[in-house]
Amino acid sequence: MERTDVVIVGAGGGGAVLGLALAQKGIKNIVLEQAPGPPTGLRGEILQPNGQQILDRLGVLSKLPVDATRSVRYFHFCKVGGAREGACPRGEMPVSAGAGRAGATSPGAGGYEKLCTADYGTLPPPYNRAIVTLPNAAHHAILEALEAAAPGALRYGASFKGLRREGERVVGVDVECGGQTAAISAQLVVGADGAYSKVREALGIPTNLHLYREGYLIAILDSPDGLDEGRYFVGRGEILGLFPAAGRKVYLFDMIPAGSMEQVKAQGLEARQNKWIRIDPSLEKTFRTLTDWKQTAYMPTGRVKTSTWVADGAALIGDAAHAMNPHASQGRMQAMADAMALADLIPKCLEKGDVSAAALGEFERRRRPQVEMLQRLADEQVIFWNTGNPVLAFLRDRVFRTIGRNRRLSYRVLETTAGLRETPPFGLLDRLMAGGFLPDPNADRVEHA
Ligand SMILES: Cc1cc2nc3c(=O)[nH]c(=O)nc-3n(C[C@H](O)[C@H](O)[C@H](O)COP(=O)(O)OP(=O)(O)OC[C@H]3O[C@@H](n4cnc5c(N)ncnc54)[C@H](O)[C@@H]3O)c2cc1C
Repeated sequence: MERTDVVIVGAGGGGAVLGLALAQKGIKNIVLEQAPGPPTGLRGEILQPNGQQILDRLGVLSKLPVDATRSVRYFHFCKVGGAREGACPRGEMPVSAGAGRAGATSPGAGGYEKLCTADYGTLPPPYNRAIVTLPNAAHHAILEALEAAAPGALRYGASFKGLRREGERVVGVDVECGGQTAAISAQLVVGADGAYSKVREALGIPTNLHLYREGYLIAILDSPDGLDEGRYFVGRGEILGLFPAAGRKVYLFDMIPAGSMEQVKAQGLEARQNKWIRIDPSLEKTFRTLTDWKQTAYMPTGRVKTSTWVADGAALIGDAAHAMNPHASQGRMQAMADAMALADLIPKCLEKGDVSAAALGEFERRRRPQVEMLQRLADEQVIFWNTGNPVLAFLRDRVFRTIGRNRRLSYRVLETTAGLRETPPFGLLDRLMAGGFLPDPNADRVEHA
């Protein structure tokens, strides 16, 4: 039987980083991935500052291909159809006092109202930007680094089939590869196999998997209009995100009812383009570059809550432990942060010969507060951002506008999205201030977490 120190199931955002971090520490590991090779599909790719920091620590950040990455400083939150007070009649984005930005405008001819701006430039350097990558660019760089650091450790076409146990303790896995089943013995098994984790199921960990009522149509489009700054439109039951990507591309995501992709396709490309043009007419040429549904993909959204992330001889990381709504913009980053925290603990556990749930619990205690804070925040955002209810939408827009004027609150939100905060961005008083129900005497005072 093959033996190793750690078996990692899943070479996604969390598993690949864990394999690499362990290899760099000299810990033997095998990463099992059911897919036949590196992923090629379309998916959302924003590297937040905390993710950049992790990739830098692993020596991968500087290896990201320049032609596949784009640093973005400003993300504007706009109101769908908000051509009224404070509106930008020809798409010119007004300066946001809250974001501390001086005198820039964006091209276009829309009639939307800018509510607030997230300015990544206000974060501590050198990670004071968001990096939008072309699909899978960062992931491919991590997988390449893993294969270089631990040749043969990454096994494609290898599906987890079950856990091997001695008494209650997990001591390895059964894996199916090329129609053959084999056993691998390991001191620790890590489930990094996503929201529908089979490792979690085999461990018998009680799980609450919630599927949200909304998913996303995502697309990568050409950008003849030129887009240098992110735009995020919220309306009544509508969300449209447009992020500039490398090579004059635009990464688009459009909220649609869960499972309605076939219906959307049946309505035709032009109907979808017209919807986007109504929201942001300045990007009509960009939207018209959607000529085939093959340029799009559907992303369902779900949230996972589990009673524990550890067992004797096993741990869960990433979506397997705690998938979250993409509003947090942190799902992949949190999977990577789990991987780094676990990789820091594993050498100590192996040295002591103690991979019990109690010993691995240190990893869970370190990571859970930030993860649960982000899950709660993203769920609140689902209520207010996704809403079709006019009262909730009114309150949401009011909060966005306050944040646009309040440097303290806008910085708190940005720090949270950037993954640099472990505690909630707002206390009760902050919420009242954000809602415009109380004045904020410290609106101009920015404190770093
Ligand atoms: C619309 C949308 C937008 C998003 N945008 C962002 C964003 O901007 N920023 C961000 O940080 N996150 C974002 N996310 C979330 C992010 O994609 C996930 O949180 C992240 O990929 C989780 O990483 P993971 O390693 O836990 O799981 P995954 O990346 O899902 O990887 C799991 C891996 O396990 C493999 N696997 C599964 N079962 C088995 C098995 N039985 N045997 C072997 N292998 C198996 C799978 O093939 C896969 O490769 C977004 C998600 C959605 C839905």
